[in-house]
Amino acid sequence: MLSKNRLRLAIQKSGRLSRDSQNLLKKCGIKINLQKSSLMAFAENMPIDIMLVRDDDIPGLIMDGVVELGIVGINVLEEEKLARKFLGTAAQSYKILQNLDFGLCRLSLAVPMDTEYLNVFCLKNARIATSYPHLLKKYFDKKVFFFKPFVLNGSVEVASNAGLADAICDLVSTGATLEANGLKEVEVIYRSSACLVSQNMNNIPLFKYQLIKKLLTRIQGVIKARE
Ligand code: ATP
Ligand code: ZN
Repeated sequence: MLSKNRLRLAIQKSGRLSRDSQNLLKKCGIKINLQKSSLMAFAENMPIDIMLVRDDDIPGLIMDGVVELGIVGINVLEEEKLARKFLGTAAQSYKILQNLDFGLCRLSLAVPMDTEYLNVFCLKNARIATSYPHLLKKYFDKKVFFFKPFVLNGSVEVASNAGLADAICDLVSTGATLEANGLKEVEVIYRSSACLVSQNMNNIPLFKYQLIKKLLTRIQGVIKARE
């Protein structure tokens, strides 16, 4: 049974953000006993419980009020917000307390290397594979033309080689994965980093609010020292 007297913070269990998230908490002086197979870890020296989950679950845990804090990519947060808006789900609120200095990436459109590409209008009627259909739709809504998105929750970069897609819309950091798959980046549609996100602050009890402020000050100190 979760204690109501402890702050709950969700981080990615394993993936690109997990090591940096754990290091940040460590640098903030939080002593955590992480066990590989467990969903929960408990801070020894502060009233904080850490939930180790898939990154995609973190926005929902925040918006549905299950945990007070999370460390997640802003891309995932924004996609979930747009998805909830599209479905008419009431709970969409969150507050980004701090942009973090890791998880830097961009959501980009890419096409096969040999495609002649002048501008985004070359993608009119194109079939585009992505894990971020709502961010992609928001971008194309501004351009006012038709395209055919389809969702792949993994291996997006191979969709074009496999003959499934004319273009892909995927996360890029160095561009090496695109290149390895014979693709070139043609448009950046969203820039992202990891962030510290909280529930709507109005719903948080005072002692947790104070603890969040303390943690935020420490995180800001760690980031400043790394600049
Ligand atoms: P999970 O198993 O938790 O669902 P995942 O495979 O969906 O993990 P990761 O690949 O670990 O996710 O990426 C997590 C986050 O890291 C992304 O949502 C994004 O914010 C950030 N990121 C930074 N650089 C990249 C990159 N080059 N490719 C993908 N994600 C990146
Ligand atoms: Zn994920």
